[in-house]
Amino acid sequence: MKLQEIIDKIESFAPLAMACEGDNPGLMFGKRDKEIERVLVALDVDMGVIREAAEKGADLIVTHHPLMFDPIRQINEETPAGRCLLELAENDIALYSAHTNLDSAKGGLNDIFADKLGISGTKPIEITYTDENGTDYGIGRVGAIEKETTLADFATFVCKCFDLPSTNFVGDGNAKVKTVAVCSGSGADMISKKLAAEADVYVTGDVKYSGARKFASLDLNLITAGHYETEICAMEVFKEILSGCPLEIICSKANKNVFNYTEG
Ligand code: FE
Repeated sequence: MKLQEIIDKIESFAPLAMACEGDNPGLMFGKRDKEIERVLVALDVDMGVIREAAEKGADLIVTHHPLMFDPIRQINEETPAGRCLLELAENDIALYSAHTNLDSAKGGLNDIFADKLGISGTKPIEITYTDENGTDYGIGRVGAIEKETTLADFATFVCKCFDLPSTNFVGDGNAKVKTVAVCSGSGADMISKKLAAEADVYVTGDVKYSGARKFASLDLNLITAGHYETEICAMEVFKEILSGCPLEIICSKANKNVFNYTEG
């Protein structure tokens, strides 16, 4: 199967037009007419993931996080991205990434996040794309859970859903939770007065201390569920998109959470 046919398949699920401004999804490295038989899917790409792909004979790596955001002026061994590009070239492996377009897509990372927490009747928090039928797509989801609960209990539920030993939350543990907003990955920038008025709690991957204080100042309760934890499902999404194609799809084992948790 040609690389471009794989790209068409991914982009019919997650059109590039659904990506946020300033994002860099798409073909990171490789020739569009390259013949592909084996694909390694991952959340991130680094030297470990590229070596894994080479060992397993993959012709293509598909990731959620793009390798590059900023323009590169030199490709050499002195930068992580340069080392990765050289390794890809040496092993004749192409690299493709679907980032915020995959977050936005129907059935993409934010829909999976909302489903996992039992949130229904969702709409995007920030619209990135409107189709010809007037349907909005975008980043984050806001909707309601079936049964009202408390912030502390909901935080415990989030831990269970994402297999976290504990989580940080902002707000009064006794506060009522019925409307819930979610955003996979780093969602601190989505904060607004409108969101604070719409949602009882906002659940995202990670937020800095200064960002968390902004949530507190708007009285918007916050729970963090881990960047890796809320986005590792990207591997399964890619696998699903490419199922039925004459390809062998391998989920990366080398792509682990960069954060470790202490025991106890
Ligand atoms: Fe992310």
